Amino acid sequence: MAKEGSADIFERMKKDGVKFVDLEFVDIMGTVKACEITVEKMKEVAGEGLWFDGSSIEGFVRIYESDMFLKPDLGSYAVLPWTGGTVARFICDVYDEKQRPFEGDPRNVLRKTLERAKKMGLEYMVGPELEFFLFRRENGCGMETHDKASYFDLGNLDLAAEVRRDVVTHLESMGLSIEMSHHEVAPGQHEIDFKYGRALTVAGWVLTYKTAVKTAARKYGLYASFMPKPLFGVNGSGMHVHQSLWKDGQNAFFDEKDRYNLSPLARHFIAGQLKHARALSAIAAPTINSYKRLIPGYEAPVYICWGRINRSALLRIPRYTEGKKSATRCEYRAPDPSSNPYLVFAAMLSAGLDGVENKLEPPEPIEENVYHLSNEELEKRGIPTLPHSLKDAVTELQGDKVLQEALGKHVFEKLTAAQLEDWKDYKRQVTKWELDRYFDVL
Ligand code: GLU
Ligand code: MG
Repeated sequence: MAKEGSADIFERMKKDGVKFVDLEFVDIMGTVKACEITVEKMKEVAGEGLWFDGSSIEGFVRIYESDMFLKPDLGSYAVLPWTGGTVARFICDVYDEKQRPFEGDPRNVLRKTLERAKKMGLEYMVGPELEFFLFRRENGCGMETHDKASYFDLGNLDLAAEVRRDVVTHLESMGLSIEMSHHEVAPGQHEIDFKYGRALTVAGWVLTYKTAVKTAARKYGLYASFMPKPLFGVNGSGMHVHQSLWKDGQNAFFDEKDRYNLSPLARHFIAGQLKHARALSAIAAPTINSYKRLIPGYEAPVYICWGRINRSALLRIPRYTEGKKSATRCEYRAPDPSSNPYLVFAAMLSAGLDGVENKLEPPEPIEENVYHLSNEELEKRGIPTLPHSLKDAVTELQGDKVLQEALGKHVFEKLTAAQLEDWKDYKRQVTKWELDRYFDVL
C-alpha cells in the first residue's frame, strides 16, 4: 500500500520520467549506502518500508538481530542528474525489527537532538563549507594535484572551473541553492558553498554534495578527495559550519545592542561549544588524518577560543552587515569533511544547548593571530588547545556525558570502538618519515 499523501510524488516521478529509485541511508562513519528499486516497487515501499540485512552495515547490528527497515523520507525526493534523469533518490530513516526508529541511525541521533531544541522553542540552522582536492587520475590515483592555482585564482590558472560549474548545475537542478564556488588556497583545492538551512535537510545535502563532486571529477579524468590533510605542507580541507538558532521565525542570535550583535542566547551557545570542544573533536575530526590538519599555520583551528575576524580561532563570528539580522551566526571551524554530518550537527547542537541550559558565559574573545602566541602567553591567558590526536579526542569523548547522551549508547560505543581500532593499527605502522629520519643515522 502506498503511503497516504504520497500520490503527488508518484505523479512527479512520472512527469520527470524516473524509472528507478535509490533508497539512501548512512552508516555511523558517514558513508552513504543505497539500494535501487523500480518505481513500481516504490509504491509498496513508500508505505511499508523496505527490509534489509542490518548486520552487513558498519556499526549497525549483530547477525542475530539483523532485520531492519528503510523508510523513505518523501520530502527528500530529488532526481540524480548524473544518471541522465532516470534515477531519483530518497533519503531514508532506519527502523529496527520492532519498527522503532533505530538508535544506531545517525539521522535518528540528529532528529532526537533537534527535538530537544524544539522543546526549548529553538530551531538549528547550519551552513557547512566543504573543501576538497582534485587529483589527476593518470597512473592510477596518484597524488599530483590537478592545478597549481591558489585562493580565488581564475582564468588559465584555475583548471577546475568547469568541474565546479558541473557540480553547481547538478546540485541546483536537484533543488539546492548554491552561494558561490572558488579555488581554495592549496594547489588543486576547491570550495563550493550552499545556502544554510535546517540541520536535518542540510546533513543530507552534505552527502549528496560529496557524490556530486566525485561524479563530476570522474567525468574530467580527475579524482576528488575529501581527506582532511592529503598533502604535507599546504592547507588541509575543512568543513566549517556556520550556525544559528531561530525562534518564532527570527534569528535568535541577533541583538542590536551588543558589541558583536550577539544575543545572550548566542553567547551561552558559544560557551557551551567551547566547553565541549575537546570531546567534540572525536566527532567533528573523526579520523587519524584529521589531526594532521589541526596544526598551526594552515587556517585550521588549534586553540579553543573565539573571535570576530580571527581565522585561527575555533569559533569565528562573521562581521554583521547592516540590515542582515538573519545572517547573524557563529562559524565552528574544527569539523572536516571526513565527519558524519548528522553526528557532527547533533553533537555541536547538544554542546551549544548545554551552554544555553546552564547559562554559561564565554571568556573574552581573542582578536589576534593565536598561532603567534607563545606557550607561556597561551597558558597565562588560559587558552586551551584541541586534542593533538584521535586517541586524545576519543579519551575526551569518553569523559563527556553530554555528548555521549546526544550520540546515544549504541553510536558512542560503535564509533569509539572503530576509532580505537584504527588507532591501534596506525600505531603499528613504520612510516616513510621514520625511515627517512632514522634508517641511515641509526
Ligand atoms: N582550509 C582551511 C581549513 O583547513 C580553511 C581555509 C578557509 O578559511 O576557508 O580549515
Ligand atoms: Mg574555505
